Amino acid sequence: MAIIDDKLVTVPGDGSFAGREMELLIDAGELQSKVAELAEDISGKYPGRCPIIIGILNGSFVFMADLVRKLTIPFEVDFIKLSSYGSETSSSGTVRLLKDISADITGRDVIVVEDIIDTGLTINFLRHRLEEARPTSVAFVTLLLKDEVAKLDFPIDYVGFNIPNRYVVGYGLDIDQQLRGLDAIYALKEN
Ligand code: 5GP
Repeated sequence: MAIIDDKLVTVPGDGSFAGREMELLIDAGELQSKVAELAEDISGKYPGRCPIIIGILNGSFVFMADLVRKLTIPFEVDFIKLSSYGSETSSSGTVRLLKDISADITGRDVIVVEDIIDTGLTINFLRHRLEEARPTSVAFVTLLLKDEVAKLDFPIDYVGFNIPNRYVVGYGLDIDQQLRGLDAIYALKEN
Protein backbone atom coordinates (compact mmCIF):
# COMPACT_ATOMS: atom_id res chain seq x y z
CA MET A 1 0.00 0.00 0.00
CA ALA A 2 1.38 3.35 -0.92
CA ILE A 3 1.15 5.94 1.84
CA ILE A 4 2.16 9.26 0.33
CA ASP A 5 2.07 10.93 3.73
CA ASP A 6 -0.04 10.14 6.77
CA LYS A 7 -2.97 12.06 5.28
CA LEU A 8 -3.07 10.44 1.84
CA VAL A 9 -3.07 6.78 0.73
CA THR A 10 -3.33 5.30 -2.77
CA VAL A 11 -5.30 2.11 -3.45
CA PRO A 12 -2.94 -0.79 -4.25
CA GLY A 13 -3.53 -3.84 -6.47
CA ASP A 14 -5.02 -4.03 -9.95
CA GLY A 15 -8.74 -3.61 -9.13
CA SER A 16 -10.90 -0.86 -10.59
CA PHE A 17 -9.85 1.59 -7.84
CA ALA A 18 -6.11 0.92 -8.11
CA GLY A 19 -4.14 4.16 -7.96
CA ARG A 20 -7.06 6.23 -6.62
CA GLU A 21 -6.26 8.54 -3.72
CA MET A 22 -7.89 8.39 -0.30
CA GLU A 23 -7.63 11.23 2.22
CA LEU A 24 -7.57 11.07 6.03
CA LEU A 25 -11.01 11.50 7.62
CA ILE A 26 -10.65 10.18 11.21
CA ASP A 27 -7.19 9.64 12.69
CA ALA A 28 -6.07 6.69 14.81
CA GLY A 29 -6.13 8.67 18.08
CA GLU A 30 -9.71 9.84 17.55
CA LEU A 31 -10.76 6.26 16.74
CA GLN A 32 -9.16 4.85 19.87
CA SER A 33 -10.74 7.47 22.18
CA LYS A 34 -14.15 6.89 20.63
CA VAL A 35 -13.84 3.11 21.01
CA ALA A 36 -12.92 3.55 24.69
CA GLU A 37 -15.95 5.83 25.19
CA LEU A 38 -18.29 3.33 23.51
CA ALA A 39 -16.88 0.44 25.57
CA GLU A 40 -17.42 2.38 28.78
CA ASP A 41 -21.02 3.23 27.82
CA ILE A 42 -21.78 -0.38 26.90
CA SER A 43 -20.14 -1.80 30.03
CA GLY A 44 -22.26 0.56 32.13
CA LYS A 45 -25.49 -0.65 30.51
CA TYR A 46 -25.00 -4.39 31.15
CA PRO A 47 -23.99 -4.72 34.83
CA GLY A 48 -24.10 -8.35 35.98
CA ARG A 49 -25.04 -9.58 32.50
CA CYS A 50 -23.16 -11.48 29.82
CA PRO A 51 -24.21 -10.29 26.36
CA ILE A 52 -23.41 -12.09 23.12
CA ILE A 53 -21.55 -9.66 20.90
CA ILE A 54 -22.20 -10.37 17.23
CA GLY A 55 -19.78 -8.89 14.71
CA ILE A 56 -20.84 -8.40 11.10
CA LEU A 57 -18.08 -9.71 8.83
CA ASN A 58 -15.86 -8.73 7.25
CA GLY A 59 -15.63 -5.03 7.98
CA SER A 60 -16.24 -5.01 11.76
CA PHE A 61 -13.40 -7.33 12.80
CA VAL A 62 -10.89 -4.60 13.73
CA PHE A 63 -13.39 -2.36 15.53
CA MET A 64 -14.86 -5.37 17.36
CA ALA A 65 -11.43 -6.59 18.48
CA ASP A 66 -10.60 -3.18 19.96
CA LEU A 67 -14.06 -2.69 21.47
CA VAL A 68 -14.30 -6.03 23.31
CA ARG A 69 -10.83 -5.62 24.80
CA LYS A 70 -12.02 -2.43 26.49
CA LEU A 71 -15.23 -3.91 27.95
CA THR A 72 -15.30 -4.43 31.71
CA ILE A 73 -18.20 -6.93 31.70
CA PRO A 74 -18.25 -10.64 30.79
CA PHE A 75 -19.31 -11.34 27.20
CA GLU A 76 -19.36 -13.98 24.45
CA VAL A 77 -18.70 -13.37 20.76
CA ASP A 78 -20.10 -14.67 17.52
CA PHE A 79 -20.04 -13.55 13.89
CA ILE A 80 -22.43 -13.26 10.98
CA LYS A 81 -21.53 -12.51 7.39
CA LEU A 82 -23.92 -10.47 5.28
CA SER A 83 -23.48 -8.79 1.96
CA SER A 84 -25.28 -5.81 0.50
CA TYR A 85 -22.29 -4.54 -1.50
CA GLY A 86 -20.68 -6.14 -4.54
CA SER A 87 -17.08 -5.21 -5.28
CA GLU A 88 -18.08 -1.66 -6.17
CA THR A 89 -18.79 1.27 -3.88
CA SER A 90 -22.58 1.28 -3.72
CA SER A 91 -25.19 -0.98 -2.16
CA SER A 92 -26.65 -3.70 -4.39
CA GLY A 93 -30.08 -3.21 -2.78
CA THR A 94 -30.49 -6.78 -1.49
CA VAL A 95 -28.95 -8.43 1.55
CA ARG A 96 -27.53 -11.95 1.33
CA LEU A 97 -26.73 -14.12 4.34
CA LEU A 98 -23.27 -15.62 3.70
CA LYS A 99 -22.58 -17.07 7.19
CA ASP A 100 -25.03 -17.40 10.08
CA ILE A 101 -24.31 -17.14 13.82
CA SER A 102 -23.77 -20.40 15.73
CA ALA A 103 -24.90 -19.21 19.18
CA ASP A 104 -28.43 -19.72 20.50
CA ILE A 105 -29.57 -16.17 21.26
CA THR A 106 -33.00 -17.01 22.67
CA GLY A 107 -33.32 -15.33 26.07
CA ARG A 108 -29.94 -13.62 25.72
CA ASP A 109 -28.81 -10.00 25.50
CA VAL A 110 -27.40 -9.40 22.03
CA ILE A 111 -25.14 -6.55 20.94
CA VAL A 112 -24.58 -6.26 17.19
CA VAL A 113 -21.32 -4.61 16.10
CA GLU A 114 -21.30 -3.01 12.65
CA ASP A 115 -18.45 -1.11 11.04
CA ILE A 116 -20.59 1.28 9.03
CA ILE A 117 -24.25 1.95 8.32
CA ASP A 118 -24.85 3.35 4.85
CA THR A 119 -28.40 2.80 3.53
CA GLY A 120 -29.42 0.87 6.66
CA LEU A 121 -30.50 -2.13 4.58
CA THR A 122 -28.12 -4.59 6.27
CA ILE A 123 -28.98 -3.58 9.81
CA ASN A 124 -32.76 -3.52 9.15
CA PHE A 125 -32.54 -7.03 7.68
CA LEU A 126 -30.47 -8.30 10.60
CA ARG A 127 -32.71 -6.82 13.24
CA HIS A 128 -35.78 -8.63 11.91
CA ARG A 129 -33.83 -11.86 11.58
CA LEU A 130 -32.43 -11.76 15.13
CA GLU A 131 -35.77 -10.87 16.67
CA GLU A 132 -37.29 -14.06 15.26
CA ALA A 133 -35.05 -15.95 17.72
CA ARG A 134 -36.60 -14.07 20.69
CA PRO A 135 -33.52 -12.62 22.43
CA THR A 136 -34.07 -10.71 25.71
CA SER A 137 -32.66 -7.56 24.11
CA VAL A 138 -30.89 -6.45 20.94
CA ALA A 139 -28.68 -3.35 20.79
CA PHE A 140 -26.73 -2.00 17.83
CA VAL A 141 -23.29 -0.41 17.83
CA THR A 142 -21.82 1.14 14.71
CA LEU A 143 -18.49 2.86 14.41
CA LEU A 144 -19.63 4.99 11.45
CA LEU A 145 -23.05 6.22 10.31
CA LYS A 146 -23.81 7.99 7.04
CA ASP A 147 -26.68 9.84 8.65
CA GLU A 148 -27.76 11.69 5.47
CA VAL A 149 -28.27 8.37 3.70
CA ALA A 150 -29.40 5.85 6.31
CA LYS A 151 -33.07 4.93 6.40
CA LEU A 152 -33.63 3.15 9.70
CA ASP A 153 -36.91 2.05 11.24
CA PHE A 154 -35.33 2.11 14.74
CA PRO A 155 -32.64 4.11 16.58
CA ILE A 156 -29.02 2.92 16.71
CA ASP A 157 -28.01 2.59 20.37
CA TYR A 158 -24.31 3.47 20.05
CA VAL A 159 -22.81 5.51 17.18
CA GLY A 160 -19.10 6.32 16.96
CA PHE A 161 -19.06 9.01 14.25
CA ASN A 162 -21.61 10.51 11.85
CA ILE A 163 -19.79 10.85 8.53
CA PRO A 164 -20.61 12.43 5.16
CA ASN A 165 -21.84 10.32 2.26
CA ARG A 166 -18.38 9.31 0.99
CA TYR A 167 -16.79 5.91 0.46
CA VAL A 168 -14.41 5.19 3.34
CA VAL A 169 -11.73 2.60 4.08
CA GLY A 170 -9.37 1.52 6.84
CA TYR A 171 -9.77 0.10 10.36
CA GLY A 172 -11.33 -3.07 8.87
CA LEU A 173 -13.16 -1.42 5.95
CA ASP A 174 -11.99 -2.24 2.43
CA ILE A 175 -11.96 -0.99 -1.11
CA ASP A 176 -11.79 -3.96 -3.50
CA GLN A 177 -10.68 -6.02 -0.44
CA GLN A 178 -7.68 -3.70 0.07
CA LEU A 179 -6.60 -1.31 2.86
CA ARG A 180 -8.39 -3.03 5.77
CA GLY A 181 -5.18 -2.77 7.84
CA LEU A 182 -5.00 1.03 7.99
CA ASP A 183 -5.28 2.26 11.60
CA ALA A 184 -7.29 5.36 10.58
CA ILE A 185 -10.31 6.05 8.34
CA TYR A 186 -9.70 7.46 4.86
CA ALA A 187 -12.26 8.74 2.31
CA LEU A 188 -12.10 8.26 -1.46
CA LYS A 189 -11.23 11.48 -3.28
CA GLU A 190 -13.30 12.41 -6.31
CA ASN A 191 -11.45 12.09 -9.61
P1 5GP B 1 -25.93 -0.71 4.17
O1 5GP B 1 -26.67 -2.01 4.12
O2 5GP B 1 -26.18 0.08 5.45
O3 5GP B 1 -26.16 0.13 2.95
O4 5GP B 1 -24.39 -1.02 4.09
C1 5GP B 1 -23.73 -1.69 5.08
C2 5GP B 1 -22.49 -2.40 4.56
O5 5GP B 1 -22.01 -1.86 3.33
C3 5GP B 1 -21.38 -2.21 5.55
O6 5GP B 1 -21.36 -3.23 6.50
C4 5GP B 1 -20.15 -2.23 4.67
O7 5GP B 1 -19.76 -3.56 4.45
C5 5GP B 1 -20.62 -1.68 3.34
N1 5GP B 1 -20.34 -0.23 3.23
C6 5GP B 1 -21.22 0.80 3.24
N2 5GP B 1 -20.62 1.99 3.09
C7 5GP B 1 -19.29 1.71 2.99
C8 5GP B 1 -18.12 2.53 2.84
O8 5GP B 1 -18.15 3.78 2.77
N3 5GP B 1 -16.93 1.87 2.79
C9 5GP B 1 -16.83 0.51 2.87
N4 5GP B 1 -15.61 -0.02 2.81
N5 5GP B 1 -17.91 -0.30 3.01
C10 5GP B 1 -19.12 0.31 3.08
